[in-house]
Amino acid sequence: MPPAQPKQGDARDVDALNEYLHAYLSAPQLQCDSEGKLMLTRTARGDAIVSMLGAVAEAVAQLLVEGDFTLIKQCEHPDCILWFYDRTKARKRWWCSMALCGNRHKAAQFRKRSRAAV
Ligand SMILES: [Zn+2]
Repeated sequence: MPPAQPKQGDARDVDALNEYLHAYLSAPQLQCDSEGKLMLTRTARGDAIVSMLGAVAEAVAQLLVEGDFTLIKQCEHPDCILWFYDRTKARKRWWCSMALCGNRHKAAQFRKRSRAAV
């Protein structure tokens, strides 16, 4: 079940998150992608730990402001603890990663079918 969507007027304590956002120093940087196309990214400045947490805090803040909480889903694999933001058109993504949990599920289903066939 996805986290509840914040409602208008719903008071949230954002002070702790703001502390990380204020400590996060970054600068815009031009980079070339693998095809040589220019893209604008941001590079962290300052303390490495604060910079790492600052980037996470910024992603959380963006999610709180712009995100649709109904698209936040928990990976369906029983051994996985990850959550993801479902950006698929059909909104039917099941796995945090098809290459990891999706394939683990497929392999388990294949083993189950193979045992049943013997
Ligand atoms: Zn997973």
